[in-house]
Amino acid sequence: MLANAAESGVIGFMVPGISLESSMKAALLSETRASVFAAAGIHPNEFDPDFPDDPADISEILLRPRVIAVGETGLDFYRDRVPEKLQIEGFKKHTRLAEAFGLTLIAHSRNAEREVLDVLGDDVAVPVIMHCFTGPDDIAQEAADRGYYIGFAGPLTFGGNRRLRDLAGSLPHDRILIETDAPYLSPEPLRGRRNEPSNVRYIADTISEIWDTDPGVTARILMKNSMEALQLGPTRRTDLVYKLYGNIYMNITGRCSNRCRFCIKDRTDGIGGYHLAHHGEPLEGRLESIIDSLSPRMGEELVFCGYGEPTMRPVLLKKLARSASGRGFSVRLNTNGTCLSWLSPSETVSLLEPFDTVSISLNASSREEYNTVCRPADGNAWDRLMEFLELAGRAASVRLTAVRYSGIEMESVKKLAKKLNLPLRIRG
Ligand code: SF4
Repeated sequence: MLANAAESGVIGFMVPGISLESSMKAALLSETRASVFAAAGIHPNEFDPDFPDDPADISEILLRPRVIAVGETGLDFYRDRVPEKLQIEGFKKHTRLAEAFGLTLIAHSRNAEREVLDVLGDDVAVPVIMHCFTGPDDIAQEAADRGYYIGFAGPLTFGGNRRLRDLAGSLPHDRILIETDAPYLSPEPLRGRRNEPSNVRYIADTISEIWDTDPGVTARILMKNSMEALQLGPTRRTDLVYKLYGNIYMNITGRCSNRCRFCIKDRTDGIGGYHLAHHGEPLEGRLESIIDSLSPRMGEELVFCGYGEPTMRPVLLKKLARSASGRGFSVRLNTNGTCLSWLSPSETVSLLEPFDTVSISLNASSREEYNTVCRPADGNAWDRLMEFLELAGRAASVRLTAVRYSGIEMESVKKLAKKLNLPLRIRG
């Protein structure tokens, strides 16, 4: 199926879930194929009213690296399997999670289009895709006016469906997406057969007819729309929370007081399949919402880090760490240990209060080596780091790390760690 799609010129796939189980399957599939991305959601007809806990809780799956959207979610009043009230509660929760994690929302609506817009409100903070949309026209127009994307699938190609073609033709080009909704809704001329991703080309051809544009131009516009809607490519969103080594990491800043010669930021945008580079500093409210949606069952420790130095946002860091500790997490700080360059000792002691563990990047055995390799903004940062070790040791369990790098004399670093009587982990 993927090979067929590749032959048709399909270069990427968005695989949504409709239940906890299928969402996890989609997430795992996406981790085995570079061209596949996943969405996690529970279809409104799949909510289980008897679910013992929270039937809409998908947050654990949202932590996975290739999950870039929340969906399918939404409202479906066509069938009465799940009470409307429960559907609305679930959809609200999914919308909140999408906003907290910064993920695109893929909204299903059937006989409930107005209600879907009502739940979303007019200032939802993430891209919204009205998935497999078939009407009504005024809802599509309102959704497009709000900046949502309107997804068209096989029904657009059906010969008798003049209204849907007119609708697609009336919307701004930059709001339109195409999709298959496979295995359902095969387009003409394959109607009635099992649908698959390669068939998306028939929908693209229909858009070309409607727009009266060259297929190459149509493909370029639709590709750009897809990248923007799913926050990929140049518009790639930053993962502010991610799961690695059994722990949950919170990426709270892109700023750093050092310019280490080995810094990963200079070479790549992230690790472990996560995109960690920041376009700007993440908003406090978003980070707080993320903490609120996490639970200690999801990971052993909650680690505050950054694609930078987290203590550069001390007030926020302390607030978030307190909140995480209050939720029952064991809380760790990963730091370069130089915050005494911008915080007083009493501010530092107060900052460290919620942390169980502090992991400090040592990366040198002397001030000269530190200044050469880590290039701190403060030329006395090494002295501040040594003072910080003392303060941190009084507040929390302290461990050291050092990066294996040709400019670092590792034997001397090991000796210093031994002298300080602190465990040292050497990182690759
Ligand atoms: S302290 Fe960390 S984030 Fe900052 S420059 Fe060094 S390696 Fe990069």
